[in-house]
Order: sequence, then C-alpha cells, then structure tokens
Amino acid sequence: MTVWIEADLCNGCKRCIKACPYGAIELKDGKASILDRCTSCGACLDVCREKAIKTDVKQRAIPDFSDRKGIWVFAEQRYGTLSKVSFELLGKAQELAETLNQDVSALLLGNQVSHLSEILIKYGAQNVYIADDPCLKNYRTNAYTSIIKELVNQYKPNILLMGATHIGRDLAPRVSRRIGVGLTADCTELTIDPEEKILLQTRPAFGGNIMATIANRFSRPQMATVRPGVMAAVEKPGNKGNIVQHKVAIKEEDIGTKILEVVMEEKKGTDICDAKVLVAGGRGVGDAGGFKVLHELASLLGGEVAGTRIVVEEGLVPVENQVGQTGKSVRPELYIACGISGAIQHRAGMMNSRYIIAINKDPRAPILQVADWSIVGDLNKVVPEMIAQLKEIKGNG
Ligand SMILES: Cc1cc2nc3c(=O)[nH]c(=O)nc-3n(C[C@H](O)[C@H](O)[C@H](O)COP(=O)(O)OP(=O)(O)OC[C@H]3O[C@@H](n4cnc5c(N)ncnc54)[C@H](O)[C@@H]3O)c2cc1C
Repeated sequence: MTVWIEADLCNGCKRCIKACPYGAIELKDGKASILDRCTSCGACLDVCREKAIKTDVKQRAIPDFSDRKGIWVFAEQRYGTLSKVSFELLGKAQELAETLNQDVSALLLGNQVSHLSEILIKYGAQNVYIADDPCLKNYRTNAYTSIIKELVNQYKPNILLMGATHIGRDLAPRVSRRIGVGLTADCTELTIDPEEKILLQTRPAFGGNIMATIANRFSRPQMATVRPGVMAAVEKPGNKGNIVQHKVAIKEEDIGTKILEVVMEEKKGTDICDAKVLVAGGRGVGDAGGFKVLHELASLLGGEVAGTRIVVEEGLVPVENQVGQTGKSVRPELYIACGISGAIQHRAGMMNSRYIIAINKDPRAPILQVADWSIVGDLNKVVPEMIAQLKEIKGNG
C-alpha cells in the first residue's frame, strides 16, 4: 500500500503538509514529496484540490444506512425518578432531529416505569420504547445491555445517546461492543455535519487541552455519551408521542448477577448540578478557614459551595462538589469563582453558568476572560465585604 505524488499535477500549495498527522510530506523543489515515515493513512488525499496525490489503497466503502432512522435517548431512571441528563439529551436530540428530519425517541427500562413516558413526551420524545419487567427494576449491566441490543436490532436507530453518568458510563461501552459500533464518551457538543449528515461528536482530548471532533462513517447507530449539565433540557408543550411496549423475554437466571441489598448513600446538601447559586473556591481560598467564609456567603445566597480539583485533592471540598472536566458540569444562575485561575479543565465545567462573577488578585487570570463581572482584588477582603453588604440588605428588609 503506497501513496505517491503526481509531480506534474502538484502546485506546491502545502495543504497536504498541514494535513499529514505524521509529518511525512515535505516540499522539494516546489513539489510535495512523500517521506518514508508515511503510514498511508490517507489524510492528505482529501485536502489535495489538484488530485495530485495518488494511492493504491482501496477506499473503504460507506455502507448504505438509509434504513437507519431516528435519534434515541436512553432515559435513565432510578427508583422511578428520571435523571436530569435524560431531559438534557432529549433537548439536544430535538435539535439534531430537526436537521436530519428524523424522530426523537426515548428508551425506558425498569419496573413499573411506564408512567414516566408522559414526562419524556413532554420533553420532546415522539416515541417511547418501554421495557418494563421485574428483572429490570435495578440497573444490571447484562440485562440492560441485552434489552437495548434487541431494541436496536429491531428498530435500527441512527443515533443513540446516553448520559455519562455512573450507569451510562457502564452501559454505553457494553452496548456499543455488543452491537459492534463505535462510541464517543463524554461529549461536550453534538452537531450534524451539513454535507454527510453524520453526527459530529466533540469531546476534550489530551488532558482537555484540545477539543477533538469524532465522526463515525462506517457503523450505526452512532453512539455518544454526554456529561450531565452540558446540554439544555427543552420542554415541548403539546407534544404527542407513541408508546411502544417491548416484550421482555429475559429471565432472572440469564442475568448472571443478583442484587442482595441496596445501600443508599446519605445525601448532604443540594447536588451542585441543581444549585441555582454556586460559590466556588480554588487554591486562592487557602484553607478550611477560607472555605468557612465561602460557606457563609453561599448560605446567604441560598447556594452551595463547589471547588476546583486542587481544593478537592486537598480535602477542602468533597469530591462530589468538584467542577470541571473530571468533576461535574454545572449551569447555575450565578457562579462566583473565588481564587480560581480558570484553567481550561475547570472552565469546561462552568462555562454554561448564566452569570459568572470572578474574584482574583491576578488581573491576567484566565477566569476573568469568561466572567460577566470581574473583581480584581484579595478575596479575603472582597468576600467578607460581600457578606457584610448582603447582611445589611437582608437586615433592612
Ligand atoms: C486531565 C486533567 C483534568 C482536570 N480536571 C479538572 C477539573 O475537573 N476541575 C478543575 O478545577 N481542575 C481540573 N484540572 C486541574 C486544572 O488544570 C487546574 O490545575 C486547576 O483547575 C487549578 O485550580 P485553581 O484554580 O484552584 O488553582 P490555581 O491555578 O493555582 O489558581 C489559584 C488562583 O487563585 C488566585 N489567588 C490566590 N490568592 C488569592 C487571593 N487572596 N485573592 C484572590 N485571588 C487569589 C491566583 O491569582 C490564581 O489565579 C485537571 C487537570 C488535568 C490535567
């Protein structure tokens, strides 16, 4: 398998040099020249407008996917409560469906969960596929994977989206492997390529320093997981939906695991994803004493305290309150960032906040670039002043 240049056709534009991920093309006497390190990946072929790059590698044919229709969302529920990310995914699915002119469907698995279909329809589902059985009461990987595989094989969706929750992160790779398709995990953006009409799945790569866009030309459904809090839920008043009951043939003994006991973790405070106000602290807050002051501000504003990865690692903020690429994505009405530099991995989790106030003593801190209001100063003076003023306002009435 080789790639070569037809020198007569090459105009030395250098597009192929930029496109080659291996640095395997150079310009010699004004013409492109392929070096030994070429892997025949073909990245240069599409960018050459003069069609001067030739190969004997046979292009993989794109299969006919005309029978693949619809955008499916796995409607995650626990104990009869739908997860917020299911609504967020339905919101994004409506947008994708409009571009593709296809239906939005929700996939609801559980026991005695059929009543939830009404809520899914309110959030934009045009079809709800329900698998309702005592075997599906609690999430178990094997059982859920088998049912989703049956549904996918029967109804042939084009796109299948899941939340990047604990369940979604376990289920999506199993399903993708079982049905033999690719999966892009932890996407932060989903769009449709205007020409090829395929799903463009964007996610952070290389420690969050670049955003990679991944597309799948060769298999269906196109599968992606999306972190909670990244997309916006959109209600669709008056929407009508079809209910499709799927007959569950799976037996308890086929599942391979048994749930002996469910131990619920005690919930402390509001989940930061649900909080309307977040007072977030970073390394600049210093110590537990500094965070005590942030807690006072948060409680005056009816909010919660969150933090960067650094303060979580230092044990100043619980891990479930970490904001960012490896923490949670939040979208409160108000995000007050105190002593946070605004590294890209942190910004990835808070950029969707409605209003951002940043307090930082360094006027060049990146967080100030994304803030609606920036206060350049020492947070040890600014935060107590905010508290004093809030108390005064509250005291006056
Ligand atoms: C793969 C990967 C994933 C990551 N995931 C996450 C993630 O999910 N979430 C996350 O947050 N980080 C994450 N990080 C870490 C991230 O890169 C940064 O290191 C981290 O966000 C920095 O935290 P910080 O802003 O608290 O600290 P610093 O970057 O040290 O910033 C402290 C800031 O406080 C200011 N300051 C200091 N004293 C005061 C004062 N008295 N008054 C006002 N301002 C003051 C300073 O000017 C500075 O801007 C990740 C990193 C990697 C490589």
